[in-house]
Amino acid sequence: MKGSLLKKINKKKILFPIWFQVKVNLFYSFEYQIDFTENGARRSFDTYKFLKISRKLRKDKLIKFRHLIKPQPLNDRDILLAHTKEYLEWVKKPLNLQQILNTDYLTEFDEDIFNIFRYIAGGTYEGAVLALENRKPSFNLSGGFHHARANRGEGFCPINDVAIAIKKLKTENKIKKALVIDLDYHQGNGTRNIFLYDENVFTFSIHATQWCDIEAKSALDVNIETNISNIDYIKLLKKNLEIIKKKFTPDIIFYLAGSDTFIGDALCDMSLNLETLLKRDLIVCNFSKTLNVPIVTLPAGGYGAKSWQVYYNFIKYCLLYR
Ligand SMILES: [Zn+2]
Repeated sequence: MKGSLLKKINKKKILFPIWFQVKVNLFYSFEYQIDFTENGARRSFDTYKFLKISRKLRKDKLIKFRHLIKPQPLNDRDILLAHTKEYLEWVKKPLNLQQILNTDYLTEFDEDIFNIFRYIAGGTYEGAVLALENRKPSFNLSGGFHHARANRGEGFCPINDVAIAIKKLKTENKIKKALVIDLDYHQGNGTRNIFLYDENVFTFSIHATQWCDIEAKSALDVNIETNISNIDYIKLLKKNLEIIKKKFTPDIIFYLAGSDTFIGDALCDMSLNLETLLKRDLIVCNFSKTLNVPIVTLPAGGYGAKSWQVYYNFIKYCLLYR
């Protein structure tokens, strides 16, 4: 039934707006944007794609502006739950931060840029809190900075929003156990590193590129070839979710739905198509539904001009059919 999921959402006639009963928690704030535009071209770290998604959802009468939940920024105390003080002080300085964002546009006076990451991490945390309360799937339209470790950031990831959220939820006794499903092109090495010895956090990552070689006690790491077929990818995902189901019962799931596995990505070389990626996302979403465990989805990486469509399709499907 090739193409059936995409056809289903594209052909669905929205005869009247469905926003009276929004089925997901959608976190987004204008504070999330960073403008690194150079000569009219946006850099690979393009935060404007999330603005595009929020606008398209409104244009298609799937949500209204008031349904976008604007989170509060996290403070230093929250961030220090997952990061060292020394590193936090270092990364707050714009000239250090820009090394991790792979840019050279910042000056020492751009101190407010770090606040963007406080808001995004706030969205990941609040997304989790709300999903635990109302059992709707939460989407944060930024975040999934999975390469950041306690004392180091890399690959566009200054602070690890998912790790901070898990630590904060545990500190507040809102959860005991968390599962991280990381399907970004790259290994979720930072998250894995932070929870290396924590048996209550299960980190699962399917990736084409390994970023470190530390074996985490409770982690399930699956390395794949970049030329894996769409069919084999889905089979592999299903098989591994079955393995996790037998091993671990979480109170919450954080899902990093990286779109850098999408065919034509500017930085990566896998060839999953839109249909497969929507299937992938729904398999993970249904996994959480079957277990009756709340889920928070983060975009993680995605550098192609059309990568926004991956997230848009997933959110649209959930809005229409969840
Ligand atoms: Zn990635």
